[in-house]
Amino acid sequence: MVLSYKPLAEHFRAAVQRKGSRFGQVPAIVLTVLDGKITSQCKAIDLLAEKNPAYAAALVCRAAAACPSLRLSDDGLWIGRSDPFSPELVTKLLTDRENRVESVASGNGDEMHNLETTCSQFNRAFRFEAVYIPAYVKEELRTISLTALPDVYYLDTIANALGLQDTGQVFMSRQIGKAPDGSRLFWGARERLPVVKFPDVELLEQFEPSKIYRDICSQDGPMEALRNTGGRISRNERASFLVGHAIDGDAILATVGSTWTSDGRCIYDNFTLSCFHRLMLGRNPWGAYKLSRRSLLVADLPKVYTCRAHWQGASPKSLLADFCHQHRLSEAQYTCNDTQESCNSTAGGHSLEIGHTKGLMSMNNNGISKQGNPGSSKQGPFQCKVRVGSAGNKAPTYFQSDGFFRSRNDAIQSAALNALLSYGRWSGTGCLCSYFQNQDCCKSNGDFLGSNPQDSTVYKSDESSGQSEFLSFRVIAEEDTLGDRPPPGSMVFVSYTVNLIDEGSCCNGDNSSDMLLIHDLESQSDFKFELGVGAVIGQIDACVSQATVGQTLQFCLPVEALGVLFAASSELGENRQGLVLEYTVKLLKFEEAMEERIESSHFAPPLSKQRIEFARTMINALEAKTLVDLGCGSGSLLEALLREPNTLEYMIGIDISRKALIRGAKSLSASLAKQNAAHSIQSITLYEGSISAMDLRLRSPDLATCIEVVEHMDPEPLRKLGKSILGKLVPKVWLVSTPNIEYNPVIRGLEWDPESNSLNKPGPTVFPELTDSKKLMDMETQNLRNHDHRFEWTRAEFREWASLLASQYGYQVRFAGVGGDGEDDDNSPGFATQIAVFAHNGVVFPTFCQEAGVSKCDGSDSVPTATEVEMTDKRLETEQDPVSQLKELWQWTSPAHPAAIL
Ligand code: SAH
Ligand code: MG
Repeated sequence: MVLSYKPLAEHFRAAVQRKGSRFGQVPAIVLTVLDGKITSQCKAIDLLAEKNPAYAAALVCRAAAACPSLRLSDDGLWIGRSDPFSPELVTKLLTDRENRVESVASGNGDEMHNLETTCSQFNRAFRFEAVYIPAYVKEELRTISLTALPDVYYLDTIANALGLQDTGQVFMSRQIGKAPDGSRLFWGARERLPVVKFPDVELLEQFEPSKIYRDICSQDGPMEALRNTGGRISRNERASFLVGHAIDGDAILATVGSTWTSDGRCIYDNFTLSCFHRLMLGRNPWGAYKLSRRSLLVADLPKVYTCRAHWQGASPKSLLADFCHQHRLSEAQYTCNDTQESCNSTAGGHSLEIGHTKGLMSMNNNGISKQGNPGSSKQGPFQCKVRVGSAGNKAPTYFQSDGFFRSRNDAIQSAALNALLSYGRWSGTGCLCSYFQNQDCCKSNGDFLGSNPQDSTVYKSDESSGQSEFLSFRVIAEEDTLGDRPPPGSMVFVSYTVNLIDEGSCCNGDNSSDMLLIHDLESQSDFKFELGVGAVIGQIDACVSQATVGQTLQFCLPVEALGVLFAASSELGENRQGLVLEYTVKLLKFEEAMEERIESSHFAPPLSKQRIEFARTMINALEAKTLVDLGCGSGSLLEALLREPNTLEYMIGIDISRKALIRGAKSLSASLAKQNAAHSIQSITLYEGSISAMDLRLRSPDLATCIEVVEHMDPEPLRKLGKSILGKLVPKVWLVSTPNIEYNPVIRGLEWDPESNSLNKPGPTVFPELTDSKKLMDMETQNLRNHDHRFEWTRAEFREWASLLASQYGYQVRFAGVGGDGEDDDNSPGFATQIAVFAHNGVVFPTFCQEAGVSKCDGSDSVPTATEVEMTDKRLETEQDPVSQLKELWQWTSPAHPAAIL
């Protein structure tokens, strides 16, 4: 039966290959630790068994002793069968593997070459690195190289390295959570394994870490224990510290034995000193969050779930499922506000009621604020609540998503993340945490984090982020041409190194020769993360958000983490205090949270859709037949108009970007190909050219649109835009949309502050001249929604610009918008997108404009003075009319109608 059981098969094979009295026997610890079923049964008997495998092994041996078909060796270290293995079984065990080896060796390819490499690979001795942790603290940690021979049982190799006579004496930990997959600590059980009898309090105490290690948690702390090595030589403090229970004698950390290839080869990996240091630092985050295993920079878990695109590693929902499984909690049940059933098909959910917050945990417990990121906004329709309960379904706890999300899945993930973050705080996902979790002194309130102020940095591996304002970093290198600063929410790409150094003066910089490199812990050349959501330790977030592309910054963090002191103890002088972690980070590039992404995670439907819908409503209200989309980009408006019913017959798109137009032509062609003509469009034409130099070919369309275009224009073309559109194109109605900068704080998740509301501040009197300085200012404050924006206007600025144009060209203008509540007063940020509707004299504003609040401002309060108009007019007149510049790029005409253009 056990034969087919994968993780143990190789151990049984080794058992029947063994000669002498150990023939057919398997080390008790192997059954205890590597067999999942036995592991969970031990845990069911006593939770302590999970903490301490030696104790679990004692339980297993006790059970084995009581089982007639099993035989326990006299020293209690080996378990075998009462009846000897039948020769058939032995043969099967051995040949099974040989067959597998054979089949691999013969491979699928027949070439001799293939065969040879496979064979030699199989027969080759592998070497892998492991970290040797001597029990004697003054003795240095070292990397040892172990040889894995194809036919030598790997535990024999470890026993040998530990100087143990008998492989049964090798004890092993469970997988070390934050180390590479399959890493375990191996040590020697020097004595006979004690047999546990219930109730056997004394014996239990021997396994109970909190009892044994009370002194480590004493006033003087572990440093004292470290110095005080007399009489405790055999206790391996560093190893005990790592796994959270007492370990005697030397120990080895290695990545071996957990995985086997199908042909029976054991998989090895190097376990380096850096890896050990990282473990000890407690900064090697929770193993289950895959991304984090790779980097010292990463926080245990990001504090915020923004959207799927920004999340790296396993999803919070799957992490929570694992967590519940591991902690024997019933399956998490998700309830979203849009459904009656719970999202997990488990019945009994209720949709969220407003105000029903009883039992909800407060989530504001993170150093990183949950505001300041788009996903946490209360702008989407979806909210989610997750219920996590004990196995008996008693005392369930509820966790809620950070507000409302645009996507249902994002809301679910956010709720799951909040549950994880909350449990993570006291379940101790870090190795240091799991150690102290067992300490009575830290147990108060179920919240051991920070309960011991003296050592708080130890447990709060990444919680020190709140102090980031005190972080001082310096620029140590920069490239000739510096780039921009990444705004919060962008994905940043960095290279970095982390060194453990003896400070001397690393941060003061003067006599840097004093500093001593103790260890280079880690370096990566291309590491990416979402800025400002707590995906990385707070200091990195703070540092990178201050960096410009091309800059290399450096900062140091004191390492009071005792783990490091332990790790580096042998290199430390008695009273050395200046141990620091030195982080060197270079900002390589960043991808800005695209306007679209920000807006779409913030609004439902996304702001871009709302703008298109506004335009379509306008088209239908005007019963417009001709549309010129100015700055059409890749044609998102035109394409939408092919899908949604409207009155249009002729559509024209103009843009200065050929690339965008080509993309547009492709996607329009594709849509047209699959349309079964639900629209009345007869022709579409795309022109390449500037909208500031309109062609006289095009005249008086029913509607012209400039959707999110003006903010992309440089001052000069923008100055000419009014004349070009209102003076030459002369549309019946011109619709101009642009971001309302006053709304940006809301998008970034900040409180909107009427104090800083620029509605009342004087706008630029002579508009274009101010644009440059304004742009500079806004870019510096990283206030704009998109990298490409030259500026973004306040409501006052937009109105001033539009009113001036309207009065110059005989138009009326009204203002509207989409996104946000649009309350238009000093105490509200207004619409997210502001829209000006210009109507040529004589054209009546569609009635829906009033409904949409368009009439709220008629521009009469900001009519420019006569001189202003005169000056502007003069300037306009002196300009040469550029010759017709529009170049037809692409045209489609409905097969039913011959080409007909305006
Ligand atoms: N209206 C589109 C695209 C907005 S992006 C949408 O809503 O999706 C702004 C567009 O304006 C870009 O495609 C850019 O190429 C175009 N643009 C900027 N200045 C221009 C000019 N002077 N003439 C024509 N197009 C311009
Ligand atoms: Mg834009």
